[in-house]
Amino acid sequence: MPENCIFCKIVAGEIPASVVYEDDSVIAIRDINPQAPVHLLVIPREHVAGLSNLDEEHVEMAGRALLAARRVAETQDELAAGFRLIVNNGEAAGQTVAHLHLHILGGRRFSEGMVPG
Ligand code: AMP
Ligand code: ZN
Repeated sequence: MPENCIFCKIVAGEIPASVVYEDDSVIAIRDINPQAPVHLLVIPREHVAGLSNLDEEHVEMAGRALLAARRVAETQDELAAGFRLIVNNGEAAGQTVAHLHLHILGGRRFSEGMVPG
């Protein structure tokens, strides 16, 4: 485990989190600073720093994370109408934790298309 990776510590149970879903590949938690009524993070157990570091060896893990996002969303009634899945990659995109994760946002309406918000 890379030292000082907060998501590795959450995966290891060393830092508490509000866990909403777990399977062999991922853990899903509530974001500590929610940007929508429902804001969840799907965190692969394996440490990969970000999408830029994703490679052939991670294909299964990445697929499992996407599938988990669907399963996590199904546990939340407020996401039944739809949700947004976001990966921030790199500092300019707003990535603050260098451990690949998917944001699930929902419980409110979002503007159509890929404009912010
Ligand atoms: P990003 O900016 O895409 O790297 O996303 C990191 C997210 O992790 C942010 O939305 C933070 O609010 C969230 N976050 C940071 N620390 C924690 C924590 N201990 N528990 C839950 N969410 C966290
Ligand atoms: Zn990590």
